[in-house]
Amino acid sequence: MTGVVPAREPDLAALADGIRRGERRSLARAITLVESTRPDHRVAAEALLDDLLPDTGRSRRLGISGTPGVGKSTFIEAFGMSLVEQGSRVAVLAVDPTSARTGGSILGDKTRMPDLTRSDSAFIRPSPAGGSLGGIARKTREVMLLCEAAGFDVVIVETVGVGQSETAVADVTDLFLLLVAPGGGDDLQGIKRGVMELADLVVINKADGAMASAANHTAADYRHALHLVRPKWQGHPTEVLTCSALNGVGIDSVWSHLSALADRLAEGGDLARLRSTQAVRAFWADVRHRLVEGLRTDPATAAALEAEVARGERSASSAARLLVESQA
Ligand code: GDP
Repeated sequence: MTGVVPAREPDLAALADGIRRGERRSLARAITLVESTRPDHRVAAEALLDDLLPDTGRSRRLGISGTPGVGKSTFIEAFGMSLVEQGSRVAVLAVDPTSARTGGSILGDKTRMPDLTRSDSAFIRPSPAGGSLGGIARKTREVMLLCEAAGFDVVIVETVGVGQSETAVADVTDLFLLLVAPGGGDDLQGIKRGVMELADLVVINKADGAMASAANHTAADYRHALHLVRPKWQGHPTEVLTCSALNGVGIDSVWSHLSALADRLAEGGDLARLRSTQAVRAFWADVRHRLVEGLRTDPATAAALEAEVARGERSASSAARLLVESQA
């Protein structure tokens, strides 16, 4: 990484200018800086983000989630290309909590979105590897801000619908799209209620060929189920659409729906409130992270307390107090 990342102030100013001009090379270098765990890189990344903050906030931030195989990459490819054809610049970022374990991320894999990858108006970034979901979410938020400063109009944050990652993505985006495949009522049961509460729009993909009528049934099931969950926005009930990402049918109406909703939320001030709440939440998450990182505890003491908690011999809270009090 040495040599890739600038360490001196003048370089940071040049890097910020390059990003403002929308230069890919500068953006890629800044992302490397933001994703680095080296303390001096962190300091430089903070200075860069503070410098660029006035240039951020102008994109539509869109989260997309769905179980593996539902058609996320096919959809994002079609959806992203449609936006590019309308003159937008599109960034696709991935949040993959499994990348820490597997050492690689399927999401954001460039081979999954060949046309977007080739497009000068698109930028695709795989999930940052390693670390906790919280760490990945923090870095993704920062990369999103860099993409905004670089002039991207739409930032898509993609995740696999397999757990807590949807909440993490909803926490850094304005709108959240849940992509679903046609199927019986069983599939609906499999979607956690909490995830439906996060959704601003549910899209049933693969509404083509033999699956067209199943897709309509699934859409009806979701419409019914959504009546039973708390609406995310007062006065804006979550809607259900169908599309075929493979055939490019219904893709444009997904965007017109989302951008109309975003416009309405922006006019009412809801979007600004959401973003400031998210920023404050990110601040406290960072504070907690730094406090834990900064704990000067003896690893043997930590391991012993952890073992006592695991064996049920000590409560989590008394172990936590003892560990914090044991600081050198
Ligand atoms: P992901 O794992 O969610 O990213 O799903 P992929 O985009 O890789 O798609 C999984 C499979 O579903 C692939 O074989 C796609 O060709 C297929 N697929 C995706 N979208 C559609 C669609 O709209 N209609 C049909 N029939 N197949 C689709």
